[in-house]
Amino acid sequence: MPLVSSKALLIHALKNHYAVGAFNANNMEVAQAIVMAAEAEKAPVIIQMSQGAIKYAGMNGIFSIVGSLAKRSSVPVVCHLDHGVDYDVVVGALRTGFTSLMFDGSPLSFEENIEITKQLVKMCHAVGIPLEAEIGKVPDSEKSHLSQEEMKKYYTTPKEAEEFFEKTKVDSLAVSVGSAHKMKIQSAVLDIDRIYEINEVVEAPLVLHGASGVKDEYVVKAIKAGITKVNFATELNKALTGSLRESLSKNPDLVDVRKYGDEARKNVVRTVREKIQLLGSSNRAEETLRFISENEYFHQHKSGNSIIE
Ligand SMILES: [Zn+2]
Repeated sequence: MPLVSSKALLIHALKNHYAVGAFNANNMEVAQAIVMAAEAEKAPVIIQMSQGAIKYAGMNGIFSIVGSLAKRSSVPVVCHLDHGVDYDVVVGALRTGFTSLMFDGSPLSFEENIEITKQLVKMCHAVGIPLEAEIGKVPDSEKSHLSQEEMKKYYTTPKEAEEFFEKTKVDSLAVSVGSAHKMKIQSAVLDIDRIYEINEVVEAPLVLHGASGVKDEYVVKAIKAGITKVNFATELNKALTGSLRESLSKNPDLVDVRKYGDEARKNVVRTVREKIQLLGSSNRAEETLRFISENEYFHQHKSGNSIIE
């Protein structure tokens, strides 16, 4: 089926107390693995590309791959821009046909973040595409995890989250609650009370970034507290690269990408299936599709053109 918007997926997940996995793809094999895993689990899924992935694979190239995988898929697939930092890239992704976008204004001042997010919300909503924004900052940390003390300067406060949401009416909100990007070990613990407090004052679905580094039990608790979209990138990179490294070191004469590529792709499928099961989104595809078809808002542009054709 054609790509779907993330709006309905996240609202359905919020109402039914599970989360949708958002998996980063940097190349064709990973995008394929994500869809294969979602189909095996009968789960709705979000494939997302960062600005770095777009620079590596090309905006149109990676979008075409995701779009054509979605078209042949039996489960709803979203094509999402992850961490659009540059205004031009966010607008470019909207023009290309992405069905969900993130503007990351966390490097800006609070006021500037609100201002630019508001402009982009207006533009995106005019064509029926949802926008995610970030308040507080999810840091990068390649070491095991940041201490509570180190995290303090990054945390999202319920007060600023409430004000940000009220002023921007963004569709989903990424919050900083203890996770960090690029972590290779699952050792981060989350401030679950903070998630409950933010969820209390923000109507929009909440997003957890850097989930690769978060202990499974905390991912489950975070979903209970109101997290509805969970992002995984490093775990997929580890699954792909780990398998490639093993195949090539075991057999230094191997040169055929199809041989070691297929093994690596299977390893990514295994990882994504485990995460989908952890989030509780297995077997949710059918009810999500029903929810989309029953709610006209989700598949109508304001112009009246359907985006679910
Ligand atoms: Zn992120």
